[in-house]
Amino acid sequence: MLTTEHWQAGTAIINKLKENGYEAVFVGGAVRDFLRQKEANDIDIASSALPEQVKKIFKRTVDVGLAHGTILVLESHIPIEVTTFRSDGEYADYRRPTDVKFVLSLEEDLKRRDFTMNALAMTESFQIIDLFDGRLDLENRIIRTVGNPTDRFQEDALRMLRAVRFSAQLGFTIDDKSLEAIQFCAENLTYVSVERVTAELEKMWDSSNLQNGMSYLVTSKLSDQLPGGFPFQHEKWAQLGNPRNSLICWSFLCLLQETSSVSELTRTFKLSNESKQQIGQLVKATQIRFERLFTRDDLYSFNEDILIKAESLVHVLRDKIPPMPIDTIIKLKRSLPIQSKADLVISGKDLMDWFSKRGGPWLKEALAEIEMAVLHKKVVNDATKIKEWIMNESNSEI
Ligand code: ATP
Ligand code: MG
Repeated sequence: MLTTEHWQAGTAIINKLKENGYEAVFVGGAVRDFLRQKEANDIDIASSALPEQVKKIFKRTVDVGLAHGTILVLESHIPIEVTTFRSDGEYADYRRPTDVKFVLSLEEDLKRRDFTMNALAMTESFQIIDLFDGRLDLENRIIRTVGNPTDRFQEDALRMLRAVRFSAQLGFTIDDKSLEAIQFCAENLTYVSVERVTAELEKMWDSSNLQNGMSYLVTSKLSDQLPGGFPFQHEKWAQLGNPRNSLICWSFLCLLQETSSVSELTRTFKLSNESKQQIGQLVKATQIRFERLFTRDDLYSFNEDILIKAESLVHVLRDKIPPMPIDTIIKLKRSLPIQSKADLVISGKDLMDWFSKRGGPWLKEALAEIEMAVLHKKVVNDATKIKEWIMNESNSEI
């Protein structure tokens, strides 16, 4: 979230660059979001100063993308990226330019940017520099490439997915010619790395106009080119309510497949092990609800967040299943005698003392049996009662 302090820090950097004889302006998403009066994530500055010159002017810097001319300036406690005006060289692989050229003009730098709304610049006194009618497109809520759309998408296929992602984030329309060009170039999406595809999809999952993005993903034909051949039934996405996040959306995508395979999904999109574990839980809990109401064991197995998310997914995927009110789920879950093994008042050490036996596989078995007995209220969670129960009624061979 940008604050006045961020803009002040940015202005101070621009002023210092200008005092040293260089040009410098705000560029990119921050300018776009400033004009939309919306919060931006980060401030970017473009300058005619070369990276070495930026490093000479500011005492504390970090080389974050030297090859692309980006230096992180740590002038105040707010780090800000300064990038040298550049134009991109030839594009050899539909994704990255073979080289980047530092150029002296802001115009050249703005020309290489993807969309008119992202090719706006702003001076330190908040004067807008608008060479490609980006402001008009912003007002009309249109995503339009800078220059010929087919050429721009052929240079870099990621831009197609960025167009769709912005349509989800901003709720904007993709200009007709740009959309046609995406349909024409859609196959080139396969040249984009999975990591970049995943990052763009995750930004979409968190967007407030997800449905807009999902329908563009399908009408642009980009969805056919995504890895794994997952079905993007975009009509269904409209029903996914809020709050919505990556966990819900990945699980939803997985469940839209007839034979849902979490490991296939997480492998295809190179998701982290943590995501894999969470998606696995949510998919499993949702599939359980396709079959039955949550039982005591189900309520115990999954955490509250997973149970609530599963309940919301069930109704988008199977509208005939009678709902289990969220309040009821929470109440039932919270009234369980224990929430996890850690809540048991006894430990393995108690069992070893009671039976004068050393540890071994029997211990794990006996603890699991006690856990289930307490959960199902066969015995209360009290050391004396548990001791009595395990001595007299347990099935374990201790
Ligand atoms: P976000 O809010 O997601 O940060 P952003 O517009 O700032 O949106 P970034 O990915 O941070 O997006 O890129 C910063 C700027 O760099 C963009 O506004 C655009 O001008 C330019 N840009 C980024 N990626 C590309 C690309 N693939 N092709 C051309 N220009 C790009
Ligand atoms: Mg940005």
